[in-house]
Order: sequence, then C-alpha cells, then structure tokens
Amino acid sequence: MDSDASVSDAAALAVSSKVQEKLTRLGINNEMDLALHLPIRYEDETHVFPIAHAPHGMVVQIEGVIVHNEIVAKPRRQLVCRIEDCSGSLCMRLLNFYGSQVKAYAVGKRVRLLGEIRQGFFGAEMVHPKCRIVKEHEPLATAMTPVYAVTAGLPQKTLARLIHQILRHPKQPGLFDETLPDGIICRYRLPGFKDSVFTLHHPPPDTQINLLQSRKHPAWQRVKFDELLAQQLSMRLHYRQRRSRTAPQLDQKHDHGLRIRFLAQMDFSLTMAQEKVIAEICRDLTSKYPMQRLLQGDVGSGKTIVAAIAALQAIENGYQAAIMAPTEILAEQHFQKLSAWFRPLGIQVGWLSSGQKKKDRQSALAAIESGTAMLAVGTHALFQEQVSFYQLGLAIIDEQHRFGVHQRLALRMKGMQQHAGIFPHQLMMSATPIPRTLSMSYFADLDVSIIDELPPGRSPVITKLVADNRRSEVVARIQQACRQGKQVYWVCPLIEESETLQLQTAVETCETLCRIFTDLNVGLVHGRLTAQEKTNMMTLFKQGDIQLLVATTVIEVGVDVPNASLMVIENAERMGLSQLHQLRGRVGRGADASVCILLYQQPLSSIARERLKIIFEHTDGFEIARQDLRLRGPGEFLGARQSGVPMLRFADLDQDGALLTDAQSVADEMLNDYPDLAQRHIRRWLGDKTEYLRV
Ligand code: ADP
Ligand code: MG
Repeated sequence: MDSDASVSDAAALAVSSKVQEKLTRLGINNEMDLALHLPIRYEDETHVFPIAHAPHGMVVQIEGVIVHNEIVAKPRRQLVCRIEDCSGSLCMRLLNFYGSQVKAYAVGKRVRLLGEIRQGFFGAEMVHPKCRIVKEHEPLATAMTPVYAVTAGLPQKTLARLIHQILRHPKQPGLFDETLPDGIICRYRLPGFKDSVFTLHHPPPDTQINLLQSRKHPAWQRVKFDELLAQQLSMRLHYRQRRSRTAPQLDQKHDHGLRIRFLAQMDFSLTMAQEKVIAEICRDLTSKYPMQRLLQGDVGSGKTIVAAIAALQAIENGYQAAIMAPTEILAEQHFQKLSAWFRPLGIQVGWLSSGQKKKDRQSALAAIESGTAMLAVGTHALFQEQVSFYQLGLAIIDEQHRFGVHQRLALRMKGMQQHAGIFPHQLMMSATPIPRTLSMSYFADLDVSIIDELPPGRSPVITKLVADNRRSEVVARIQQACRQGKQVYWVCPLIEESETLQLQTAVETCETLCRIFTDLNVGLVHGRLTAQEKTNMMTLFKQGDIQLLVATTVIEVGVDVPNASLMVIENAERMGLSQLHQLRGRVGRGADASVCILLYQQPLSSIARERLKIIFEHTDGFEIARQDLRLRGPGEFLGARQSGVPMLRFADLDQDGALLTDAQSVADEMLNDYPDLAQRHIRRWLGDKTEYLRV
C-alpha cells in the first residue's frame, strides 16, 4: 500500500496545542476529520423578509431600525427592543443580556435579526434571535451560513475559519482525491467527493435550503454513501479475513445417530423454523472456515435446543463445544438442562463459574483439558486464561447482546482460543431482534439465522398497564392465581444509581409480600446472592415449592419456568423496551394464558409513556426492536455510545436504507476490482480506527 502513504500519513493540523486539544474533543485530529466536520444545520441570511409578511414557525431574517429600548422588570428582568421596518414592527426579547448590549441596541440603530417569529405577549416577537448591527444597504450573505457543532472555547467563527483553510490549502497532497471509480459514480449518479464536501460547507446561493437541512441534497447523499460504503468495506474485509482462517470440518454423520437419540428424549418435535436454522448452522459447521453466525429468535422460540444440536455435531466429530451465558443464573440453568439431556447420551458436561469452589473448578478445568467433558458450560469464566480446551470446535454465546460491547468485540476478535492455527466455529444467540437495516450495517460481516416462529400451543401474554395506586387489585389477582396452582414472578424496580438501594427495595418488597400472603411461600433472588443460593432458590421455584418469586432484573435473561404464568413488574416506566420484552418473555412459556402486569408510577414522562404504549401494543420482538431503534437511535440501541468505536455519523439507517443497499452491492465490487481505492476509502473514513463497531 505504499502508493497510499499520503493517505495514511494524515497531516497533523497546523494549530496550537490548545486549539488541538479542543478539536480533539470534537473528534478532529487531522485534516480529513476537519473537512468532514460537516455543518449540523444552516442559517439562511441570504435574504430579508418584510416584518409584516415574514412566515412564522421557521427561522427567518428581518431587518429594521430600533425604535424603542427598555429593560422590563416583570415577569422577569429582560431587555425588550421594538424594531420597525416599512411593513410593520416586532419585539426582540433578551432574557439574558449584558450591559453592553443595552447600549449597543440603542434607539436609531439598524439591526438584522435571525430567528423564529412567534405571537407573544407584546404581539409578534423574536426571543433571543441572532442580532447584528448593520449599515443601511449592507450586502446580504450570498450563501447559506453553516452552523457547526462546537465545544467550549472554540467558537463557530474559529472553527469555520479552520475548515475554510483546509478546503483551500490542504497540506496533505490529494486530500480530496476521488476514491470511487468513475463507473460507480456514473451508475449511482453521485456528485464528486470534493464538490460535495465543498458544497456542504459553502452551499452556493442557489442551493435549495430544505434539501440541505433535510440532508437529502445530492452532496449529503454522496457523503452518506461514502460513509456507509466505508462501513461495508470494513465488514466485508473482516468477513474475507475470516474466510482465510481454518476451522475444523465438523461433518454431519449420515445416520445422525446422536441427534436422533437426543431428540427421542423430547416430548415435542422441532418447529419448522428450528429445523431451518439447524440446517443452516450444521451446514456451516462442515465448512473449513470458521462460522460466525448469529441466531436470532424471540424469547421462548427455542434456541437452546438448537445450540444443543449444533454442539452434538461438534462432539460427534471428536471436538468440544462450549456454551457461554452472561449471568450465573442462566449459565447454571443451561448446565442443569444440558447435563440432563446429554447424560443419557454418555456425554459429560463441565461447569465453570466465577463463584464456584476451588476444588470444583479444578476438576472442571481438568475434565475440559483432557476432553473428558466434551461440553463446557459457564459464564465468562470460560474465557479466562487458565481454561484450556482439549479441542474446541464450537463456541456458543447465548444472549450475546447482554455482554458489553468491548467483551463482544473481544470475543469476535479472538474467536475464542485458537489451537494450532485452527479456529473454532462461533454461534451467537440473541433474543434481541435486530432490525433489518442494523443487521445490514453493523452486523454485515455475520451470517444470520432467524427463528421466526414460536413453538405451538403458546398463548400470547396479555399485558396490562396498571397505575401504582391500584396495587391492591394486583394483590388480589396474585392470590387468585396461586390458589389455582399457578406461579408468579414479582419483579422489583430497577434502581440504576445504586445497587444497594435496589437490593434494599427487593428485600423490603419481599417482606411486605410475605406479610400480605401469609399462606404462600415467597422466595427472593437478587444479584448479591451466591451462585449456590441463586440455584437453590430457582430450583425451589421450578419444583413449585415457592409460589411467588420476588426478583430483581437478574431473571431477565433466559430463565425458563413454564408453570409461571403471571408476572408483575414494578416501576415499569423505568425500564427499557428490550428489558421489558425480555422480562415479559419469562411468562407465556406453558399452555396457560399468561398475564404480565406493568405497574407504573405517575406522572409519566413522554418517553416513558411512549415505551409503555409500545410494549402494551406489541408482542412481536422484531416490531418492538424496530420501535426501540427509532426511539433511541443505533448508538444507544447497540449499547455502544461510549465504546469509542465509530458509529455512523451522517447516514441515518431509518432514512437511508436505499443508500445502504447500494453501498452493500458496491463494496464487493470495489474489493474485487479496485482494491487500492477500497483501501484509500476505508482509511479516509476510518483513519487508524480501522473498524466499525462489530457487535
Ligand atoms: P429461548 O429461545 O428463549 O432461549 P428456550 O430455548 O429456553 O427459548 O425454550 C423455551 C421453552 O420452549 C423451553 O421450555 C423449551 O424446552 C421449549 N421448546 C423448545 N422448542 C420447542 C418445540 N419445538 N416445541 C415445544 N416446546 C419447545
Ligand atoms: Mg435462551
């Protein structure tokens, strides 16, 4: 890549270290960063409206002479100026002002105001407009004025000047060179890169402002296309890199001996959707490249059994499989379930958790190392350095969205431990469905299988929203359900600020409920219990010895007790959509009609109201995820805002789906036919960051 040296050696900016420090806060470290610090919006100072005819409800510029100037004391201290032109007049109100402004905006002065006109107490008014003193016949701006994201100590003007300098006199040769081949530019009718960046910083006078503001202008389209393309290229490269690695080929045995014996133990048959994803996964396992497949399926769709069947294929070929879960409770539950399933097949399951006794751990480690245990189940303890596998063929990560972004990245990078140049296959499972545009962008280097059907005989969960002052009705309902032999979860509020407080609340709730339900057995699980205590409590609940289980959100993932058919969630307004969906998924697992009661505290914020409405109206995880993405945006949705890994800055997955599709098809063409341009393109957009978030 020597020919690209000029691109990789991004020229440092010729600014003082003080200014550089502020630029860094805005993510600007080199000339291209600065050139791509595109305006967040524009102001139109290219013409002046007559005051009487200026449209309301949008930002407009007016010009007039100050005819009155007064500091008003009530209802609060403010500076009020009346401005007049030949068509009419309006008020400018400044709630915060300096003494110097009182002097400057003296009667007789001519000013231009930029702002929104509203109907106020004094008639037409502008509150805190941008105000500039001008001479009569002062020329108007000839272009739209860009407005940049700034940071303290680095005002608009300085930033605009720095950007202007880079556009005019970049130090780095070829800074704005085209990275797309002509053919692609023509095919998609894209404007040039340089032109686009220039246009966005200095829109020519005839530019349609609404296209600029709404980011639909061709120049925006080009920039967004380039950004999406960089993401696709980096994903495809990662995909190709994986294809250059070697994995054990895990053949499907003709007689499917183990699988048939395994399925014979079940008192149900697989759904069509399960059959389909099993076929996809098991085909990948036979390949000599490491699989990286994401298995998506709504809560309760039956992913565990799919994982078990994939594991059997590895084991049948003499390789080990490992299943990792994000919480102790879930890992333990998998261990119990899989041991019960695999024991009759003569397969030993090893168990690793951070909380276990040293002796147990030693013997589990030994069994995993010698291959006596062909399946290993555990929490992230499975990934720790001391664990060495006899021969790992398949790593399964359950509820992968629950692992932190950095953990997820680390898992993907390492592909778990490689052994003598052989990489294990990876299967990631998630109950948080990923909307299509997200899976095409942030997940583009993964293969995806989807279970789009629930096992038969499930009746959908009925969701009820109940204001907290109607708790007594809820209590009556619990009593009734338990008399009928059903079991109930009571989920305590999430208190993000303090784990101690959360624990305290859970304990108090449990005590209160014990006092109310003297005839019921009430249990409590929370994050501070030891692994053993949690297991014991869950076992009691599973066996039906406990009717009412008070729990913190530790039960959110994966817990499977089919007889539990009523769930109460306290302070549901504090929880996120995917969390509510996951929690609700703990009921509705048996044949009984299930109910989930969301208790909420009034008053509701508008966002909380919207969330509760969504969870009330929808049970389909995909739809809930789509709405969640819409509400929160991809950064929050993926839990990646603070990860430091680049997210999309300009493209909006909701609006730019078509561009994404184009970028996707261009990526492979570029890598095959124009590898040098592809490299330059990636480096322009990613610099040394080298990769987009992979989740
Ligand atoms: P999830 O996809 O949320 O991990 P699980 O694997 O825990 O779901 O499965 C939920 C429940 O459904 C379990 O009790 C499991 O035994 C049961 N189950 C799985 N597949 C089927 C099926 N094909 N028919 C009936 N029940 C099934
Ligand atoms: Mg599960």
